[in-house]
Amino acid sequence: MEILENIPVEVKIAEIKRRLHLTRDEDLKSAQQLIESSLVLIEAKALYKICYIEEKLEKAVRVDGLCFKSKVLRKNLDEVERIFPYVVTIGPKFEEEMRNCPDLLKKFYLDTIGTLALTSARKHLENHLQSKFALSKMSFMSPGSLADWPIQEQRPLFELLEDVEKYIGVKLNDSLLMLPAKSVSGIYFPTEITFFSCQLCPRKECMGRKAAFSEKLAKEYGVLE
Ligand code: SF4
Repeated sequence: MEILENIPVEVKIAEIKRRLHLTRDEDLKSAQQLIESSLVLIEAKALYKICYIEEKLEKAVRVDGLCFKSKVLRKNLDEVERIFPYVVTIGPKFEEEMRNCPDLLKKFYLDTIGTLALTSARKHLENHLQSKFALSKMSFMSPGSLADWPIQEQRPLFELLEDVEKYIGVKLNDSLLMLPAKSVSGIYFPTEITFFSCQLCPRKECMGRKAAFSEKLAKEYGVLE
């Protein structure tokens, strides 16, 4: 198991401007000040493991005796033997600040800043894996991002990663959501063509969309009848 601590994060004002549709100079200035004051509360950490696939089943893979059931994951791992299960978090302090913030608009801004900081921390992990293991391209999947790989799959993922709470302070609640909430989990794997779960997700108006929905790809993966 590997731990990355003190992960540097970057939140660009241009991305905040785009996401929050800010146009006025004074709003941009306040957002910039908020980024600066809140980034000091971020303690980004990541935990990951190097694992090898034991068995490839029809719609699942077995890793260290644990079964991950997903047609999409199985297809993505067709040519892959080594995977990198992970959890990344920006820590509890930022979340506490957000929870205690009485101003709803500021809270909304903080939420967006936190999401972008978390993406930046995950990207840091991706760069770390690429450079450490000399991988030219990687993709990831997260439990709960598609109906095909539901949130219940957090259980075997956390079991695989062992004591996530002890090492980076992230635990699962009864609804299988991570605490602190600004945390992400999943499996990184090497790919030749970058895969995004968003390509198989028809949800409209999602601020987090990373790639356009592809009906053709969704049919190929067998997640759209
Ligand atoms: S479009 Fe949105 S909801 Fe769908 S997978 Fe992408 S980020 Fe998740």
